[in-house]
Amino acid sequence: MDYPDRFDVIVIGGGHAGTEAALAAARMGCQTLLLTHNIETLGQMSCNPAIGGIGKSHLVKEIDALGGAMAHATDLGGIQFRVLNARKGPAVRATRAQADRVRYKAAIRGMLENQPNLTLFQQAADDLIVENDTVRGVVTQTGIRVFGESVVLCTGTFLGGVIHIGLDHHAGGRAGDPPSNALAQRLRALPFHVDRLKTGTPPRLDAKSVDFSVLETQPGDDPTPVMSYLGRRDQHPRQVACHIAHTNARTHEIIHANLDRSPMYSGVIGGVGPRYCPSIEDKVNRFADKSSHQIFVEPEGLDTHELYPNGISTSLPFDVQFEVVRSIKGFENAHITRPGYAIEYDFFDPRDLKHSLETKFIHNLFFAGQINGTTGYEEAAAQGLLAGLNAARRAQGQDAWSPRRDEAYLGVLVDDLITMGTQEPYRMFTSRAEHRLLLREDNADLRLTEIGRELGLVDDTRWAHFSTKREAIARETERLRETWVQPSSELAKRLSGKLDKPLAREYRLADLLKRPELNHADLADDAPELDPAVAEQVQIQAKYQGYIARQQDEIDRLRRHEALRLPEDLDYARIDGLSHEIRQKLEAARPETLAQAGRISGVTPAAVSLLLVHLKKRR
Ligand code: FAD
Repeated sequence: MDYPDRFDVIVIGGGHAGTEAALAAARMGCQTLLLTHNIETLGQMSCNPAIGGIGKSHLVKEIDALGGAMAHATDLGGIQFRVLNARKGPAVRATRAQADRVRYKAAIRGMLENQPNLTLFQQAADDLIVENDTVRGVVTQTGIRVFGESVVLCTGTFLGGVIHIGLDHHAGGRAGDPPSNALAQRLRALPFHVDRLKTGTPPRLDAKSVDFSVLETQPGDDPTPVMSYLGRRDQHPRQVACHIAHTNARTHEIIHANLDRSPMYSGVIGGVGPRYCPSIEDKVNRFADKSSHQIFVEPEGLDTHELYPNGISTSLPFDVQFEVVRSIKGFENAHITRPGYAIEYDFFDPRDLKHSLETKFIHNLFFAGQINGTTGYEEAAAQGLLAGLNAARRAQGQDAWSPRRDEAYLGVLVDDLITMGTQEPYRMFTSRAEHRLLLREDNADLRLTEIGRELGLVDDTRWAHFSTKREAIARETERLRETWVQPSSELAKRLSGKLDKPLAREYRLADLLKRPELNHADLADDAPELDPAVAEQVQIQAKYQGYIARQQDEIDRLRRHEALRLPEDLDYARIDGLSHEIRQKLEAARPETLAQAGRISGVTPAAVSLLLVHLKKRR
């Protein structure tokens, strides 16, 4: 039968990509259907119950700045919050939250159920309706045909999913869920490039059987950070500590002795795993000189005793997992509640996508999340939001939108994927962004909320909050610029204990704030009480003004010359300052324009500047 309603946007898959995609399309006013295997698993965290961390929190804040759900759900579900790299520069600071998986899921489901224009429907999508290279709808497992203008596929690790525990394997989308095999077959028949990847998860432990007295305790930060720009500390549930354990020589011995029973090492798994989130057997093998690896012992929630031992992801057989766990100090009597496993699944070469995440071969069909070769909830959610937005814009007859690399980590993520593809599960790092100083987690709202508002993603509450903050930043920046401090003033006297040397002449407050020994609170004496987020922003902008301006100049200069054509006979060997590796890459790719050169993996902005200088000299 045909589903009674026709939709603007149909989203398949209720994971992190699918939920953000569906919410984004519905916020834009599109009649949206979220079709998923099981409504109970909407927003489920397949692996580690944690959101954020280095590079990833930047994406979460960008999703938030564009009106998305992930940061808000984290504030409602987070049971431990920390700012990583707090002592380093603002570009690499990152908020990380341990989440209660049940509360997180409930928060996402609440947002989905209360979102106008959004309909939830529990069914597996088994087939796509495609006519004239354009997707028209979806056929569910019971033969219901649902028609829509555009379709977003967010099927995660489920396509052709195979779960491995030791040399045993069975079909599955993740533990406890069925795979998506009919749809996988259908997609394999379409002209996409398909390959296999794998990822894994550790065994879970019963906290009642763990001896915490011998583990290191890791408390959350005080005051507790928030994830969303609209977040409040009083939204957080009770906060708890995490712990740290370590593997040892005995653990490593057990693993070495059983490598032939690992599906990865015996060749049963063909897919490539995440380099930066390796299994314990991978770590022990690759870093053979290390006698110990850290394990972060993380609670799965407030109402459960289950623990997530982060760092011992494994697909070794259960009896080996048991021995490995029991060899660890503090886990001598630990009970495993769920065995660890690896999962292999289909993904599609993201080079078959446009910047909008629409596929190049089938019009109006968008892919987002793990299906594009990424790993991580945050990477999936960010793509979901973009794909949902562009699927909605397509349905509304509008052009696609995608942020540039210098506007957002989301821009870096999509550009990396669609230009370079990926041979292993792709995760975000701050080092992937050339313009890190501009793309901080503290300013994602200043970078994106205005455009989000124009796109129809940002509601009135967020817009009002943002506008107030932006005005307050401008007012305070102006006050600092306009206020002069005399050497004889009360403020100068008070600051004298902090200053390297006393003020010899009058200074603007703005110039004093640039000094490393002073912070905003030192200069805020007569100012009206400021929101800490405003003070933080004013301070970062003042202290890093020189670097930020330089990075902005570089971007502006390159953008002006982006279309500059590179001569076909350009001899890269004759360009001073280029490394051998970059020369080789340029030789091999022979880009047509400066912009294309800059998009080649490993070709740095500095190298593009050298190219530009060389081209100008040639003219
Ligand atoms: P998913 O979260 O997988 O959601 C897919 C959704 O689509 C599900 O709701 C599913 O039911 C639904 N679905 C699938 N097919 C259909 C269909 N045909 N019809 C209807 N609904 C469908 N990430 C890390 O960052 N670090 C890790 O260490 C890590 N380890 C992992 C270990 C395991 C075992 C697994 C399974 C995942 C792991 N991940 C890890 C990855 C992380 O879970 C994913 O990156 C993230 O969940 C991807 O989000 P997604 O929305 O793309 O897909």
